[in-house]
Amino acid sequence: MRKPKNHICKWYNVCPINWFTKEGKLPKKWIEEYCLQANPKCVRYQMEEKGIFHPDNMLPDGTIDPSL
Ligand code: SF4
Repeated sequence: MRKPKNHICKWYNVCPINWFTKEGKLPKKWIEEYCLQANPKCVRYQMEEKGIFHPDNMLPDGTIDPSL
């Protein structure tokens, strides 16, 4: 039987959303709903792929969190 595919986003280890979550600054729902599923709807992911600048405090749905 084949192992299940790894669905973690390829940017996970270098993504600030991961760091902020580990520091307790963001709820885990972002990494659960986006990063750990390699969710193609992630706006950060889409912009990263296109080489478009996006600030560290932009969440996966594209909103800016000024508290970060
Ligand atoms: S926030 Fe987006 S780009 Fe960053 S690791 Fe999660 S899914 Fe990937």
